[in-house]
Amino acid sequence: MDLDRLDTLLAERGEPAFRARQVWEWLARGAASYEEMTNLPAALREALAAELALSSLAVEAEALARDGTEKALFHTADGRPIEAVLMRYRDGRRSLCLSSQSGCPLTCTFCATGTMRFGRNLTASEILDQALHFRRKEAVDHAVFMGMGEPLLNLDNVLAACDRLPDVGIHPSSTTISTVGWIPGIERLTQRDGPTIRLALSLHAPDDALRSELMPVNDRYPLADVLDACRAWSAARRRKVYVEYLMLAGVNDRYEQAVQLAAILTPQNTFKVNLIPYNPTDSPYEGSGRDAIDAFRAALTERGVPATVRLTRGRDIDAACGQLAVKAA
Ligand code: SF4
Repeated sequence: MDLDRLDTLLAERGEPAFRARQVWEWLARGAASYEEMTNLPAALREALAAELALSSLAVEAEALARDGTEKALFHTADGRPIEAVLMRYRDGRRSLCLSSQSGCPLTCTFCATGTMRFGRNLTASEILDQALHFRRKEAVDHAVFMGMGEPLLNLDNVLAACDRLPDVGIHPSSTTISTVGWIPGIERLTQRDGPTIRLALSLHAPDDALRSELMPVNDRYPLADVLDACRAWSAARRRKVYVEYLMLAGVNDRYEQAVQLAAILTPQNTFKVNLIPYNPTDSPYEGSGRDAIDAFRAALTERGVPATVRLTRGRDIDAACGQLAVKAA
């Protein structure tokens, strides 16, 4: 819901300030219509239904994968495409992958979103409406900003959305912002007041030359500086930084590269590596095989760097990491 518009409409009608809170609380609990908002006067419910759509996003398409992962394609009111994903895990976790921008101005070479035309930053309401779409289906408890866009390029709106996610059932400690290493944003997250939201760094290469090839943003914010910013965040927030590392066959998955990665991720209690099997899109890369991933992981753990391999979700509906792109865009 366009929450700014809601405030305006309520003010124009001379409604008390708590009405906005009441509407929001219903939405956050999964209400799918104004009709359900029984503590609002009937006349107000009718007026709102006539003037303000329940969501700022229109659902364009939905897809359900064999593993229960669900993807939704939305359009904003001005026609910008975005996607979000709900991942259902066997242990009961329900995790949302949210988008912060329509398209992305950065051009990581392995990423489908990077090939889309950049549209614009999403508003806080548009970010929340992705979560509310899935909340209307079932309770949700985790969120990762790993969908379309670089969240630290839209930090005000991302944080405004994060402030409301606990009402939806997603606490800050279960929310992760993933960045390519946009240092000004990491510094803001280090210094800000308020609860700690988890931080993930998309690293993908253990040296500057390869990283710049994969992620041109590395020319602006080189590896050593990004890792320093992450260390400062970790020290201030007393949390580990998750390091995301896509496994690209023959590119960044060699034993020497694992050794090099372990050497730069110091001190050892600061980082935790998440190795991500790559889902080929229309990119020039192939995903590493299982043996290469296992060997890479072993090389890291032998050197004291904790590493896990991410479960791949939603591969058959193009919902996995790096696959979010609106085909027609
Ligand atoms: S990986 Fe993230 S930052 Fe890079 S192009 Fe894709 S969406 Fe943008």
